[in-house]
Amino acid sequence: MEQYDAVIVGAGLAGLTCGLELAEQGRKVLLLEAEPVVGGRTSSYIDNGMKVESGFHRYIGFYSEMPKVLRKAGIQLNEIFTWEEKVEIRVRKQEKLITLGAAPLFGPKKTIMGILGNNELLPPRDKLSLVSFFLGGLKDLITNPKKLDAYNIRDYAKKHRVSEDAFHNVIIPFSTGLYFLPPERYSAYVFFGLLAPAIKRFYKMRIGAFLGGMTDVMCQPMAEAIQKKGGIVKTDHKVCKLHMDWQNKLTGVEMEEGRIFYGEKVVVATTLNSAKQLLKPLFKDHPWFQPMFKLPMMSAATLQLELKKPALPKDITTFGPRTSLISFAEQSRSTFRHVPGRLSIIMSNPERFLEMTPEETLQVVVKDANLLGMDFKENIIDYRQINHYDDFHSLEPGYHWMRPEQVTPVEGLLLAGDYTMQPYFATMEGAVVSGQKAARAILSSKKR
Ligand SMILES: Cc1cc2nc3c(=O)[nH]c(=O)nc-3n(C[C@H](O)[C@H](O)[C@H](O)COP(=O)(O)OP(=O)(O)OC[C@H]3O[C@@H](n4cnc5c(N)ncnc54)[C@H](O)[C@@H]3O)c2cc1C
Repeated sequence: MEQYDAVIVGAGLAGLTCGLELAEQGRKVLLLEAEPVVGGRTSSYIDNGMKVESGFHRYIGFYSEMPKVLRKAGIQLNEIFTWEEKVEIRVRKQEKLITLGAAPLFGPKKTIMGILGNNELLPPRDKLSLVSFFLGGLKDLITNPKKLDAYNIRDYAKKHRVSEDAFHNVIIPFSTGLYFLPPERYSAYVFFGLLAPAIKRFYKMRIGAFLGGMTDVMCQPMAEAIQKKGGIVKTDHKVCKLHMDWQNKLTGVEMEEGRIFYGEKVVVATTLNSAKQLLKPLFKDHPWFQPMFKLPMMSAATLQLELKKPALPKDITTFGPRTSLISFAEQSRSTFRHVPGRLSIIMSNPERFLEMTPEETLQVVVKDANLLGMDFKENIIDYRQINHYDDFHSLEPGYHWMRPEQVTPVEGLLLAGDYTMQPYFATMEGAVVSGQKAARAILSSKKR
């Protein structure tokens, strides 16, 4: 019988963090990952001969737990990130770009110029209309978060009389550009909730683009650190059932071929969708799980292209409001240096593209890219569409309160994952914090 202190289902950032924290404290851990590589939504892999990633990711400088965990795994931030001091917003059918500084301390000039400049595309009147929106949102976040969660971003901007141009050219990039949701479906609570830590730690603000595929530079090294500390990480191991004993204690997990791994604790560190599938057969009527079973999910879609030359002069985060290329980045000098040009695009509205073939998606992207002043049609070497069906919990108004805590009322069972309750929503930092919270709960409970 294979018995562990903790069996962790899923080796995304949440599962890897939990495993690392436990292994470091001498606990015997087993991580079981369904896919051939670790990393989940931060994975990178080869798809029919082309190097791809789950979608381009940005590390945000105010993350505080993720860097600690990466350092524990022996990873130095400066070795895996290249730093961006600004982001660009391409305005549809306009020649000029809006450039916003994204690193007040590391690139103060660009930050100040971003606020004072860009007057042609964003006159001072439009900028002023944003002030009451941001101040009001941050105040409501502190004084009345539930009320804020009743608004979507579109209605909240209307309430604060934000001009149409300011709404499209600033708010949409920082809402839809980050979470793919159209503003009519995006909770104002989530929008300001994500900004709040940035304000507290504004001096830390900068944006990191990965120097290599995320599995290669981050997740696999984390898995190796777990193994060095005595843990075991198994890929291609899909858990299909949770095991409960006659006293209703979770005791292990079962694989498709019937093999069982036993654990004093079982941490379900999957997406919300997979967690529901594993938990529902056992806890369909359990009151504690009802909100999480009802918490809706949302999807994402990305298109990734290899090109004969770079599509953009720099590898920086770029937003394309009012087009399907809501956020994108050239990556041939940063993440994927093996090809002359590499473009990674996060699509808006994802649901529309999930229905399309990659060829159809490409047609839309080429047309919309033209509107943003980019023409790469003749330079395409290869491309892939990577879809994430129902991989996120819904960030629409009214759902935040349905997210479960990591500690459950079922003995032996814990949850981790970005959808579980932590302040960073669906981000890498959120996943890491959820994994830490699950690990801390295990470490503070007595071993039997
Ligand atoms: C396109 C895209 C862009 C993003 N951009 C950013 C960004 O710029 N910045 C940022 O901070 N965050 C970003 N994110 C969000 C970030 O990737 C996620 O919040 C985070 O990676 C979630 O980690 P997790 O461990 O909670 O879940 P996941 O990474 O989804 O891990 C869950 C793991 O469980 C495994 N699993 C599921 N079911 C089973 C089973 N039955 N048995 C075994 N294993 C199972 C899955 O295969 C997966 O590996 C982005 C996400 C996407 C998709």
